[in-house]
Amino acid sequence: MTVLLGLPGLRSSRPGADQQRRLADAYGRVAADLRLSLTDRCNLRCTYCMPAEGLDWMDRSELLDDDEIVRLVRIGTERLGITTVRLTGGEPLLRRGLEGLVARLAALEPSPVLALTTNGIGLAGRAEALRAAGLNRINVSLDTLNPDTFAELTRRRRHADVLAGIRAARAAGLDPVKINAVLMRGVNDHEAPDMLRWALDEGVQLRFIEQMPLDAQHGWRRADMVTAAETLARLRTAFSLVVDPAHAAARGSAPAELFRVVGTDRTVGVIASVTQPFCGSCDRVRLTADGQIRTCLFAREESDLRLLLRGGADDATIADAWVTAVAGKQPGHGIDDPSFLQPDRPMSAIGG
Ligand code: SAM
Ligand code: SF4
Repeated sequence: MTVLLGLPGLRSSRPGADQQRRLADAYGRVAADLRLSLTDRCNLRCTYCMPAEGLDWMDRSELLDDDEIVRLVRIGTERLGITTVRLTGGEPLLRRGLEGLVARLAALEPSPVLALTTNGIGLAGRAEALRAAGLNRINVSLDTLNPDTFAELTRRRRHADVLAGIRAARAAGLDPVKINAVLMRGVNDHEAPDMLRWALDEGVQLRFIEQMPLDAQHGWRRADMVTAAETLARLRTAFSLVVDPAHAAARGSAPAELFRVVGTDRTVGVIASVTQPFCGSCDRVRLTADGQIRTCLFAREESDLRLLLRGGADDATIADAWVTAVAGKQPGHGIDDPSFLQPDRPMSAIGG
């Protein structure tokens, strides 16, 4: 709907205050953090994510193009209270023209905080341009300090590229640089203290994520998962960690529980998605690379915004569909329910 501004004859498609809505659900949560997948493709093959041969990638025509993405994010920020947009995938650095897309998203008004989750390959040559384009935050995934273990875990010999990417992100002034690590029993779980020592030296913030049942191969077994409690116990063999009351009070909807590393001014995080779910304070909503709204990583239903976009729907209609989708968000991921079923889409096609 167009809105009349104060001047006669001057019209704007920007919504008025009466059209500002929030993405609220039936459990009192409000989604303000959009996880936006830019591609399902990847140049690594992490064993906890996808099989060695890769997956049947989406056809290019199925992916939202840059204009469609910018329009949806504009609707989200202008009308629906989206304040943060995290670009992810698959591997978002594989998206052609990413810097240009970041610049277009950064130019929106209101402008969202822009974050990127990446495996870091190719980041060394692009961190500065991404920062200049308007990227505010970055998370780089790194599960090991050992190049051979990296090759075993990701099935590619690219460890040095990731380290170079992390350093480039720091040099470009992205701060904090957060490192996401998934521990696998008998593969890299013994490295937790060494990784924390490395993170303290590098000046990056390390967070350990519990492995979730989101792999394309459906090979996840709860008994094999390294729990956050185990990770903390390992870290405490080498470090003294305390819950920082200030961090705890400020945690809000953040998935990571932060611990202060005694003797330093730094923290380490654990994301206990499985053993201590934080669904009750979740403020996230996901948009897949092919334009489907998902209210949870584990959702079994999706809402098709691409169909509306390509069918000529106006902004208000798309906003309505988005509001309706989030209103139906489930209270929790239900991994512990006997009836739990892993979603058909793997993590790489949802956007982690
Ligand atoms: N390719 C990019 C990367 O690896 O950072 C972005 C996408 S990836 C799906 C996002 C995050 O999800 C990564 O930190 C990765 O380690 C994590 N991830 C992937 N599969 C996972 C699983 N089954 N359980 C927990 N985390 C997982
Ligand atoms: Fe690629 Fe990220 Fe999945 Fe690893 S976790 S295979 S880097 S999408």
